[in-house]
Amino acid sequence: KNRIDILGTKFDNFTEKQFHKYLIDDLDVKSNRFIVTPNPEIVLSARENSKFSKIVNDADYVIPDGIGIIKGANSLGTPMHGRITGFDTLMFLMKTANKRGSKVYLLGSKPDVIEASVNRIKNEFKDIDLVGYHDGYFKDEQTIVNDIVDKKPNIVFVALGSPKQEYFINNYKKLNPAIWIGVGGSFDVFSG
Ligand code: UDP
Repeated sequence: KNRIDILGTKFDNFTEKQFHKYLIDDLDVKSNRFIVTPNPEIVLSARENSKFSKIVNDADYVIPDGIGIIKGANSLGTPMHGRITGFDTLMFLMKTANKRGSKVYLLGSKPDVIEASVNRIKNEFKDIDLVGYHDGYFKDEQTIVNDIVDKKPNIVFVALGSPKQEYFINNYKKLNPAIWIGVGGSFDVFSG
C-alpha cells in the first residue's frame, strides 16, 4: 500500500474523489472496513502507545484529518494529495446511504446530541434506514454490541472520542461487516 509515514502513523495518500470511489465499492460488496481519521493529536498519542499505534496502522483507511498532517508530510518531503476530514467523510457516507437506502447505526456523543442527529437524519436523509442508535455514555458495552450485530448496519458511525472509538471498532468490527468509522466530535457538528 502507498502510505505516507508521519511520525509512525501511516496515512493513505489518495484524493478524496478516489477515496469516495473506494467506499462505494466497499458498500457494493459489503466489505468490512475500518476508517480512522487521525489529526496531529492522534499521531502524537499513537507515538506514545504502541497498542493504539498498531490499531490505527492496521485500519483499512488512514485518512489525513487536519492541515497539520498535510504540512507535516510536506516538510518530510513526502507531500500528500490533501486533507480529507472525518466530518466530510461522515457527510459523504450520509448522502451515499440516503441514495442507496443503506442501514446506518449511530453510536456515541451525549444523549441530546444523538437525538438531534437522529432528527436531522429523519428530516434531511429520509431514505437512510436508521436501524439503531445509542449515546456514548453506556455502562453495558455488550448490550450495545449485541444491538449492532442484531441490526446488521452497512455503516456504523462511532463517536466516542479517541482512542476509545478506535478500540471499540477494533474489538467489534469483525462481528458485523460494515464500514466502521470513528468520527470523534462530528455528531456535535452534524446535530447543528
Ligand atoms: N464521547 C462519548 N463517550 C465518552 C467520551 C466521549 O460519547 O465516553 C463523545 C463526546 O460526547 C463527543 C465525542 O465523543 O461527542 C468526541 O469527544 P472529544 O471531543 O473529546 O474527542 P475528539 O473529537 O477530540 O476525538
